[in-house]
Amino acid sequence: METVANKSGSSSGAFAASSGMTKPAFSSARSAAIAAVTGYQSTAPALDFRETSTGELFNANVFSTAAMKKRLPKPVYKALLRTVEKGEKLDSSIADSVAAAMKDWAIEKGATHYAHVFYPLTGLTAEKHDSFLSPDGDGAAIAEFSGKQLIQGEPDGSSFPTGGIRVTFEARGYTVWDVTSPAYILENSNGTTLCIPTAFVSWTGEALDKKTPVLRSMQALNTQAQRILKLFGHTDGALVSSTAGPEQEYFLIDRHFFFARPDLLNAGRTLFGAKPPKGQEFDDHYFGAIPERVLAFMLETERELFKLGIPVKTRHNEVAPGQYEIAPLFEFANMATDHQQLTMTTLKRVAEKYGMTCLTHEKPFAGVNGSGKHVNWSMGSASQGNLLDPGETPHDNAQFLLICAAVIRAVHKYQGLLRAVVASASNDHRLGANEAPPAIISIFLGDQLTDVFEQIKSGGANSSLPKGTLTVGVDVLPPLPKDAGDRNRTSPFAFTGNRFEFRAVGSNQSIAGPLVAMNTIVAESLDFCATRLEEATDGDPEKLNAELQKLLTEIINEHGAIVFNGDGYSDEWHAEAEKRGLLNLKTTADALPALQSQEVKELFEKYGVLSERELESRLETYLEQYCLSIGVEANLTIEMAKTMIFPAAIRYQNELASTCANLKMVGYDFDTDTLDAMTTLVKSLQDGITELEAAVAEPDSDDLFAESKYCCETIVPAMNKVRTVADKLETYVADDLWPLPTYQEMLFIK
Ligand code: ADP
Ligand code: MG
Repeated sequence: METVANKSGSSSGAFAASSGMTKPAFSSARSAAIAAVTGYQSTAPALDFRETSTGELFNANVFSTAAMKKRLPKPVYKALLRTVEKGEKLDSSIADSVAAAMKDWAIEKGATHYAHVFYPLTGLTAEKHDSFLSPDGDGAAIAEFSGKQLIQGEPDGSSFPTGGIRVTFEARGYTVWDVTSPAYILENSNGTTLCIPTAFVSWTGEALDKKTPVLRSMQALNTQAQRILKLFGHTDGALVSSTAGPEQEYFLIDRHFFFARPDLLNAGRTLFGAKPPKGQEFDDHYFGAIPERVLAFMLETERELFKLGIPVKTRHNEVAPGQYEIAPLFEFANMATDHQQLTMTTLKRVAEKYGMTCLTHEKPFAGVNGSGKHVNWSMGSASQGNLLDPGETPHDNAQFLLICAAVIRAVHKYQGLLRAVVASASNDHRLGANEAPPAIISIFLGDQLTDVFEQIKSGGANSSLPKGTLTVGVDVLPPLPKDAGDRNRTSPFAFTGNRFEFRAVGSNQSIAGPLVAMNTIVAESLDFCATRLEEATDGDPEKLNAELQKLLTEIINEHGAIVFNGDGYSDEWHAEAEKRGLLNLKTTADALPALQSQEVKELFEKYGVLSERELESRLETYLEQYCLSIGVEANLTIEMAKTMIFPAAIRYQNELASTCANLKMVGYDFDTDTLDAMTTLVKSLQDGITELEAAVAEPDSDDLFAESKYCCETIVPAMNKVRTVADKLETYVADDLWPLPTYQEMLFIK
């Protein structure tokens, strides 16, 4: 480290000069980091992109439908396909046959182990690896993998948070093969592993993970969507799946900076750091040329993702310096969820190879644009296509409008739930803070669609329709936005031509929770609409249009308050939203309690997505996670303030004081303004630390709600106080004494 530091230009030169004196090289970690970053040279071998094109690599490491078709006996293949494509129950007698084929395929790819991959409530990905090899009794080993091993595993997952569902004496949790998400090979230079996506459930069958409710909610949505399709004469029963295309934003910084910042290392975000003189105001990064090293990283990431069958499509710079985005083509919701998790792990893994760290935290740098994960959502079937595509005929459009109205009703009715599923300590820095989207859930429809609903609004009484009323199913709709040009970036929930885009989701979150909520609330809304229309038409399709007209009018009148096309970031909107009775739940502590409302409990129970106990366990886990993250940040703040910032501050204060004393001794005046300011700041820093220490020392409450409120109302403000003083100090203390890489360095030195 030291030698590297000494090689670099001026700042380490200063250390070299002072090294003979008693003064230690104060900011050695920081200056060594800078030196290492500026001297970066790639050690990653170049990819053989000419030999194997990315196209050829697609699905190379996936036990895909094509691979299955080639390797499985025909009846087995067909049975499996029925489960994957039509949602039929899996015939468990085929498991041995599938396992054998899967094992052969994996071993050909160099696999020595298999892993059941599951998604615990932490939002992370967990794996349990087992070797294929078992002793054969004659001193040798044979590769074994039975249907039973494929279908079910028993990880010792007793330390995953389960919100009290599994007390430790009944600590068993099972991983169960999810046939609808294909197995894949995870590569490492020293060996490969067959990964099998699984659901993680307790021995009583309760969901302990993020995947199980996604699958259940997809089923619920299909059931209700079928009823709607039937009303419009589509009776083929083709499975309706929800689809998702998540856009992932992230930051890349050099790893040397990352390791020189205990806050990034332990909390994923900077707890200190003054705003740089140059921020993102020039917008010169957005969609700008991608730096070489970053591009190399992106190319390799995409290649890796392609091998895993993840259809990455776009890459570009984002608004903030050092911020980027990656987006795949949409897939079925459960596949998209698994692939999203894999995308996050791959981004992090490949970044390391290029000497960088990928930060997926929602707000790594205060005052700089945060990262979201826009979840594009729709539903569709093989025969009907995308159900949120505006149709060509009035008849199709009637169905489209009904589904749109169902979404509007769902989002309005369950706005609290939608807010709760994106709540986390880290996402609080985006939602409800000084950043769009706001914590108020609203829908952006765009001018044209809003206009259509405005026209429908007056048409409830089907006898005498006021002028300007649109008669659904009869009138030809005005051309609807195929590809919405009028994008509104401030809306948390926007219609974008043929899908809705849920933008409040945080960059670090699993998309499972948001998808479960979307699927279930829309299922409930479709159920409501189908019931109404079935009763009114009573088998007579002639009666459909009239009742539909009434229903749409009713929905838009009762739930239209959620529609807002303006600037979601403005103060006027906050006042207006309040008038409209919309929720504005600023923090996680405000938002999570929605999960225990009667309405939400009934919703999940009714559609078999989460039992009351499962829902409670989730609430408990999320509250706990919230308190834990704040707790970690508070302790880190104290530690860094005491051991890094305070020492730097008093050293500088001491320098000023001795300069002052020395000058006075030789008869000069010394303007003590800076020393005065430093002294005040040092005192404030000490006071702030003391206050935060006292806040943290309070014993935890047994009531998690009370505890989360305490974190939010007492600990966070106390942390912010320390930070404000420290950031001010950063603008005073001599640069060579400052111990932490600055925002400027982390964001701009590449
Ligand atoms: P933008 O940045 O303009 O919002 P992108 O092209 O980056 O748009 O991302 C749009 C995302 O929406 C992509 O992942 C795309 O596959 C996805 N998408 C498109 N159609 C659907 C659909 N029917 N259902 C779900 N996602 C969709
Ligand atoms: Mg988007």
